[in-house]
Parts: sequence; C-alpha cells; structure tokens
Amino acid sequence: MLSPSIENLIKIFAKFPTIGPKTAARFVFYLLQSPALTSDDLIKSIQDLKTKTRTCPLCQRFFENQIDKTCEICSNTARDKSIICVVEKEIDLEAIEKTATYKGLYFILGGVLPVLKKEAVEQTLTTNVEKLCDRIKITHEIKEIILAINPTMEGQNTILWLKRKLEGCNIKISCLAQGIPLGGELEYADEETIESAIQNRR
Ligand SMILES: [Zn+2]
Repeated sequence: MLSPSIENLIKIFAKFPTIGPKTAARFVFYLLQSPALTSDDLIKSIQDLKTKTRTCPLCQRFFENQIDKTCEICSNTARDKSIICVVEKEIDLEAIEKTATYKGLYFILGGVLPVLKKEAVEQTLTTNVEKLCDRIKITHEIKEIILAINPTMEGQNTILWLKRKLEGCNIKISCLAQGIPLGGELEYADEETIESAIQNRR
C-alpha cells in the first residue's frame, strides 16, 4: 500500500487531462527520486502560474504582461481588428498562431457543447458568447467571425449553436474549409492544413 502523501498527489495528477493513475504515479515517483527537478521548483512554478497569469478580457487568453490591460495579440495594433477567430481552447489558438498567416484577433469559447447532458456547459458557453456579442456591438469594427471549432461531433453541434447565437449580430460568419479531418483537432493538425483551412474558409 502506498503512503497517504503519495496516494494524495497521484490523485491530484490523475485529474489532469489525458493523465491516468499510472502516469500520475510515474510523475510522483519521478518527483520523489529526481534531483534535477525539486519539489520547490514545481511549487514555485505553480504559484507563479496562478499569481502572474491573467485572463485577457477580450479574447479570454492567458497572459502575463502586467502593464497592458489586454494580451499581446489583442493589444497589437498591427493585427486586423475586423476578424475574430473563435476557437474552443487556448491550445487551438496557439496552433493557428504557429502558422503565422492569420492576422486577425481571437475569442476562446472555453469548450464545446455536448450532444447530450449539455445544460451546465451551455450556461457557461452562453455567458462567454454574450461577451463576444457585446464586443461585436460595442466596437463596430468587427466584420467577420471565423468559427475555427474542431470538426468533432460536439464541435459540429457547437458550430450550429454558435450560428444561432450570433444570428442577431448581423455579421459575416464563416467556418474552416475541409482539410482538418472529421473528428480531428486543430491541436494535432500540421501548419499547412490549418493555413489552408483558414484561407479557404466558407
Ligand atoms: Zn486577448
């Protein structure tokens, strides 16, 4: 039987996305045995993460700059403020940024709508979409919204839901062109595929 402190940390790591109890246990034993990464480093990094990063009020992205009110992308005057690309999560935004061809702004939706048992998620997503709608109405600069939602079943469901939610905003709404395979995710697509999916959006 494992000691309670080992068990406890395994339980914490096992809650991380894609990490099962076996990998969680490997992490814990690595921490116990590794001189290279001390527990103090880990504790400090987590503290820094929680105290230094803020959420951008415009796009919901995490950022660390303490001077500007918004993130580096939203406060960059060279970016095209007439297009907003809506993505499911931060990692999808980073995948699009890596292509270095998209010059517009972003909005992180914060999830996708499940086909079943969607009530709780729908409430959170509705609050988020309302922020986007307010942004469209207040700025008057936005001319197009690109729905760069992963083409999974839940993603398709979310696209239909978003189109209904954004109907009243009187704005051009486009979706990524095919290229990202059905069921696939932006996070795992190569840069050329993402680039062409954005350029050939419909
Ligand atoms: Zn931002």
